[in-house]
Order: sequence, then structure tokens, then C-alpha cells
Amino acid sequence: MNIDLAVILCLADEKENQPFDEYVAKVVDNLLAKNPEERAFLSRYDIHYYIADNPNDKSIARVVDADYSDDMLLKNGRRFAVVFNRDLLSQLKNEDSMAFVVGHELSHIMYQKGFPRVRNLDLDEEVACDCSSIRLMNSSDYNILDVAAVDMLYSDISLDMRERIIKRDTFMAKEGIYPADRMGMSRVLNKEIFVNLHKKPWKRDSIFEKQEPDVSQIVEELGDIFERGDRTDFKRELNDFLSKKTSEESSKMIMSILGRVMTDFPSIMETRAKNGCRRYYNHPVSVMSDIVWEQFGRSGQKLLPPNYLIIVNRYVENNR
Ligand SMILES: [Zn+2]
Repeated sequence: MNIDLAVILCLADEKENQPFDEYVAKVVDNLLAKNPEERAFLSRYDIHYYIADNPNDKSIARVVDADYSDDMLLKNGRRFAVVFNRDLLSQLKNEDSMAFVVGHELSHIMYQKGFPRVRNLDLDEEVACDCSSIRLMNSSDYNILDVAAVDMLYSDISLDMRERIIKRDTFMAKEGIYPADRMGMSRVLNKEIFVNLHKKPWKRDSIFEKQEPDVSQIVEELGDIFERGDRTDFKRELNDFLSKKTSEESSKMIMSILGRVMTDFPSIMETRAKNGCRRYYNHPVSVMSDIVWEQFGRSGQKLLPPNYLIIVNRYVENNR
């Protein structure tokens, strides 16, 4: 899970979120117990479950690409985050209702990735995901009557929603699914696990606090920012750190960092073309660019090791 996404979603710390992640994974395990094809299909992806506070979001959960795809499409991703809206989730009583929600979100992945059993329902995506989830619930021991509690989270049931419910009923009749089969057999939703989670945006630990980082540690941190985001404090701290050095030392260090990242990471142009802006701004070269301007703008001698200078010049020529 990348930190940028987490901060945007106001997620709790990943470690604190872990019991919730495991709890939902267990619900998913139940849903897939008798569905080996779905299980095999979904096991190709890395999927985790998070709780978030999103008071402005009217939906109880959504599935997002955890690898920064800015368009939020699921087609290309391999790592996904199913993010539950805490306020709405805590209004549910039964795990069975949550099972419907998570089954629906996983069905979005299956739908977008072209899993035949969801695609072949020949329904529009939202209805197809509802029906797929109901099918999973039916094959495990979840009570389909608890789907209604999820519908009731929407204060006014729109015409669209009515149609969606009718299409679900048609689907159940066709498949011989009887919602009342497990009447009175719902499981209680374990709310303890998420209602008291602290709301605390994730933060990157500073590499400058304990001791002076060397070039390797800085490059490693740039790699982590590229993967997971959260660059702002690092940029400020690195700039402060370099400002305390002489302009010779600072320029030499910058050239060594650039020389390393320009050889070790995919090029910045390639990143922009393939991965979109968020990833682009977290690219090591992009993170370094403001710092380079500021540090090279200082008065005094500069030290440009020739081997790194060659790499940097060639890179700038190829990535204008
Ligand atoms: Zn949906």
C-alpha cells in the first residue's frame, strides 16, 4: 500500500489496521471456500483491506489500485486496496452484510480483469458485482437477507437502486437462490476491530534525525519514495542537510545521488508515460530537481565528479 494513497484516504497506521485486514481476509476466505475458480483467479493479486474515515464519500467501500494508477482503473493493477468507510460500516450489524460488500468489491476486480463467471452474467458492472457477491454468499454460509441492510445505508433509495434490486431478484430466481434459506443465522459483525482505530495519517520516518545519511541511504530512501510516496518532508530535510555543507560537498553529493538514481531507476519520461503524474512526481529525479536548483544556485565552488557528470549529461539529453 503506498503512503500517498493512505494519506489521501486518512487511513490508520498500517500496523494498527492489520487486525482489520486479517478479519476481512477471513470473511473473504469464507466466501471463496467453495469457489476454487474465483479463489485461484483472485490469488493472482495482492489484495488488502483497510478502514478509512471518508465522511464525504457516500459509498461503504471502494476498491482502488494500490500502485498509484491515477485513473483509478483496475485493469492494469496487481495490488489492490479495498477501503471501507468506517462510519457506514459501523452502521451494519452483521458480518453477512460486510461479506456482501467485500464480495461486491472483489467482483469489480474480477469484472475488470475479465473473469468469465462475472462477465458472462451479461449485466452492467454494478449489478453484475451485486449478483456475483450474492452467489458467493449463497455458496458459503452467509445470510443473503442481510444484503438489505447495506441497501438501507443509502438514505433515499433511488430509481436506479430499485432497478438494481429487481435485477438481483431476477438473478436469484433464475439461479434458484432463496434469500430466506439462512434466516436468523447471521453472524455478528466484529466492530471492536475498527471502531476504535486511531485516525493517523501515515508518515515516513526521517533518515536525517539519528545520524548523517550517506549517498547510499539517500538513494535507498528515494527508491522507497518512488514506491510508496510521501516526499514532502524528505525534500525539505535533504535540502536543509545539504545547505549545512559547503557548496563543494553539497554539489558532489548531489552528483553522486543523481548518477546513481539515473542508472538504477526507470527513466523519468518512461515513468510519466506509463504510470501517470503521481508516480512521476515521486520519481527520484523529479524529487531531486528542486533541490538541485536550490543547491546549485548557492555561491561558491562546485565539485562535479566526471564519471557522474557524463551520466547526468546523457540523461538530461534523453529526458528533456
Ligand atoms: Zn460497485
